[in-house]
Amino acid sequence: MNKTKIKQNDKVMIISGKDKTKIGKVLKIYHNKGKVLVEGLNKIKKHVKPNPYKQEQGGIKDAEAPVHISNVRVVCDACANPTKPAFRLTGDGEKVRFCKKCDENF
Ligand SMILES: [Zn+2]
Repeated sequence: MNKTKIKQNDKVMIISGKDKTKIGKVLKIYHNKGKVLVEGLNKIKKHVKPNPYKQEQGGIKDAEAPVHISNVRVVCDACANPTKPAFRLTGDGEKVRFCKKCDENF
């Protein structure tokens, strides 16, 4: 499987489904499933059991569901465009991610 170019706290745009074109922050990456959890997006209704130890009431709550990586694009910090990032080496031999659209590292 391809290693993802998405990192935690990246901004990503969803490109399919009901939240298409919406942008959110990556909260979690599930490498083995190839999915990411995006803050505030792809919400589902989740049934929650009451948990007296945490003083949580049961019921239905909104929760984010993981989105497949093929359905998101990383949004470049510099030009704010959704992009397919690429990698290149700096003069120090360090691998950095850069935007193919504006050529900025991000
Ligand atoms: Zn850019």
